[in-house]
Amino acid sequence: MVDPTSDLGEDVTEDDAPRCEVCGEPIVSESTHRVVTWTEDDQVETAHFCDDDCRSDWDP
Ligand SMILES: [Zn+2]
Repeated sequence: MVDPTSDLGEDVTEDDAPRCEVCGEPIVSESTHRVVTWTEDDQVETAHFCDDDCRSDWDP
C-alpha cells in the first residue's frame, strides 16, 4: 500500500521495506541502501543490501 501523500523512498515501514540479501534486516535507511540488478533467463533479478558491507559480503 502506497500512501499518495508521501514520497516514495521516504517513511518506509518495516512491512514494505525490502530485506537485505545478506543479513535479512528490513532496509529502512535509503542513505545506505544498495541495489544490484541483473538479468537471468530474461527476468530482471534484484538484490537489496542495507549497506556497502553487506553488498561486499554477498556471494550470489
Ligand atoms: Zn545487510
